[in-house]
Amino acid sequence: MAMPYPDSVRASGRQKACFSNIRVLLGAIEYYNEDHKEKIKELNEITINCLYKEKYLKGELSKPTERCIYYSKGNLDENGEGIIYCDYHGDFEGKIKSKIDDDFESWVNTRIKLKRLLIPLTISFVIATAFFIQAYLF
Ligand SMILES: [Zn+2]
Repeated sequence: MAMPYPDSVRASGRQKACFSNIRVLLGAIEYYNEDHKEKIKELNEITINCLYKEKYLKGELSKPTERCIYYSKGNLDENGEGIIYCDYHGDFEGKIKSKIDDDFESWVNTRIKLKRLLIPLTISFVIATAFFIQAYLF
C-alpha cells in the first residue's frame, strides 16, 4: 500500500515513527477487512484488540511519544474514506492538524512574553545597581 508523503509535512523522527504506526494500522485493517465479512470501520480499543488477537498486528505498537493515541475518522472500510490519525501528530495527509505546531506556537508566544518582560527587568536591574553603587560606594 503506497501512501503519498507530502513534502510540506516537515516530519521529525518521532512523527515519522508515528506515521509508520498509522500505516501499519491501516494495512492491518485492510487485510482484516479482506478476510472478514464483519468489517472494521473504526479504530478503537475493541478493534485494536481484534487485530492483535487475530495476528493482523504482530507485536505491540511502540508509541513514539506518550501523547500518541490513535483514533479514526470516517468509515475505514470504504476505500480512502476513513483515516487514522494520532491525537498528537495528526495524520500524514495533513487532514488532521498536528499539535506540534500548537506547541511550537505557544513556545514562540512564551518567548515573546519573556522578551517583553526582559526590557523592564533589565531597566530596573540597572537602576537598582546604580542605586546600590551610589548608596554604598560614595
Ligand atoms: Zn503520534
